[in-house]
Amino acid sequence: MSNKQAFQADVSKMLDIVINSLYSERQIFLRELISNASDACDKLKYWALTNPQVAPFAQGFKITITPDDKALTLTIADNGIGMNDKDLADHLGTIAKSGTAEFVKNASAGGNTCELIGQFGVGFYSAFMAADKVEILTRKAGEDTAWRWTSDGIDGFAIEKAEKAACGSEIKLYLKKDAKDFVDTIYLRSVIRTYSDHIAYPIVLNLGKAGEETINKGSALWTKPKSDITPDQYKDFYQHLSHNFDEPWLTLHFKAEGNLEYTGLLYIPSNMPYDLFQPDKKHSLKLYINKVFISDKIEALLPNYLRFVKGIIDSADLPLNISREMLQYSPLLEKIKSGTVKRLIKELQKRAKNYDDYLKFWNNFGIVLKEGIYEDFTNRDDLAALAYFASTADAQRLTTLDEYISRCTSEQKAIYYLTGDDINILRNHPQLEAFKQKGIEVLLLTDPIDEFWPQVLTTYKDHTIKHISQADINMNWQRTEAKADAGSLQKLIDIMTELFKNEIGRISATERLTTSPVSLGVEAGQMSLHLERLMRNHQQGVAISSTRVLELNPYHPLIISLTQMTSSPDKRAQIEEISRILLDMAKVSEGETLTNPAEYTAKISEYILKSL
Ligand code: ADP
Ligand code: MG
Repeated sequence: MSNKQAFQADVSKMLDIVINSLYSERQIFLRELISNASDACDKLKYWALTNPQVAPFAQGFKITITPDDKALTLTIADNGIGMNDKDLADHLGTIAKSGTAEFVKNASAGGNTCELIGQFGVGFYSAFMAADKVEILTRKAGEDTAWRWTSDGIDGFAIEKAEKAACGSEIKLYLKKDAKDFVDTIYLRSVIRTYSDHIAYPIVLNLGKAGEETINKGSALWTKPKSDITPDQYKDFYQHLSHNFDEPWLTLHFKAEGNLEYTGLLYIPSNMPYDLFQPDKKHSLKLYINKVFISDKIEALLPNYLRFVKGIIDSADLPLNISREMLQYSPLLEKIKSGTVKRLIKELQKRAKNYDDYLKFWNNFGIVLKEGIYEDFTNRDDLAALAYFASTADAQRLTTLDEYISRCTSEQKAIYYLTGDDINILRNHPQLEAFKQKGIEVLLLTDPIDEFWPQVLTTYKDHTIKHISQADINMNWQRTEAKADAGSLQKLIDIMTELFKNEIGRISATERLTTSPVSLGVEAGQMSLHLERLMRNHQQGVAISSTRVLELNPYHPLIISLTQMTSSPDKRAQIEEISRILLDMAKVSEGETLTNPAEYTAKISEYILKSL
């Protein structure tokens, strides 16, 4: 064809992946095309609300499936919004969604594609799993010209003018030789029932001379009473919403009554979605007003820290005739949001009673839920109670704040925590030594968000949340070991202060260390070293830097020997050399990078050699 256009490079790659990796699930192409047809009807229905010109076309919505066993074609037709030539080129020749290109790259590198593929906007392209040629005849509502889009799904597509009486689209699949099943009406019926039963428009099977047969139940699932819905129907609807194959971890169907009525059907997936941490990722709840689909981009519907929740909210009490933009600001939405959040929290509380079950959820979404402790002032305490943390109490099991408190002695009015990049570094952190000695539990926090929520939570059930560097517990337990004498300790501190004057703000002795000679920290109230590293990695605020504090353990034999060396002036150079090694050791235990690792290892080797 002369007017052939090439696919965007990523499309060809994606087609390749879709066709080859999803082969065993290939009947899902029908679910995808029916879902597009249903979306097209939703769009026209909504458009007609605010645009009287197209209103006459927006009626009698239905989706018609026509198998042709002679020509071996299958046609999925809708009388929805349709597409013009620009829509065709924009939507069916490119990959518009953010994150998709990245996914395609990962998948080409051998990642797990099957479970995630539906989420990437591959929807339409899945047609090429069953067809070696696809033809779309379409006309946009309110426009006169119709268009034909044709592609073999290999390198490109062609668009030409065509004739079509009414608005909407007909997607005609020229079935592959091994996809003849899809002209078999018995098989078609079962596939449609399995995947698309809950579609709100009638799905009609065109049986030719034998007439037409409506296959689906055709009512919005959430409007039915719970007792009429089977677990499979709930699951199918979830898979339709999420384009996923997993089972939902949570299904929550509720009706709020009172002066504002609304229904919610919400799900929490059992897998982590690929795009959970994309900066532009928003929740994907669909908002319906009395069964009319309005938008899945109403941000005010759910807070960001619940962005993993899938589902729908439907309310007949919201105004239908105002724009989506205006709807954002409706105070009713705020009420729906707070009510929905409360219900979700209540469900999580129930499920949290079972550790193993809740752990599955926590491993996927805990890191996101913790953002809520920081953001959601109203539900802060409830969200904190729902959080699991690693702790020094039990290396095998995570703990809650309530469990932590239950283990506290009556004098301990604080919950202690330590932050860092890596749980293993934290478990062996020098700063923990005194806490271990005194049997005081410490939470070990490794997520970036852990630097932030303790700043706003500050107390939980009368217990102050404290970084261990702020601990004011009395550490002067009875120590029987030898201790460096105060005078020479001060001399050592003076030498180090002079030596590290450009790098370390303060050097002092501490009672908190037992097995480590030194430890690196920051001045109380300043940004922790972990947070500094996070900011540096994200190239944010590189200029800010907390004052480093180097603490010495006066009971450690290494420190004791060093202090003794201060009495002979000729040992000065050696004291300085060892001090540098000690500083580097402190950095290593904290997870900091060394300014000169080569020099550090060279010196360590030198000392090891001497001792051999
Ligand atoms: P998604 O449905 O997730 O947007 P698809 O690949 O399934 O991704 O479809 C891509 C786009 O093509 C849709 O967003 C829509 O704009 C357009 N489209 C597909 N099928 C139809 C249809 N039957 N009627 C109108 N537009 C359609
Ligand atoms: Mg789609």
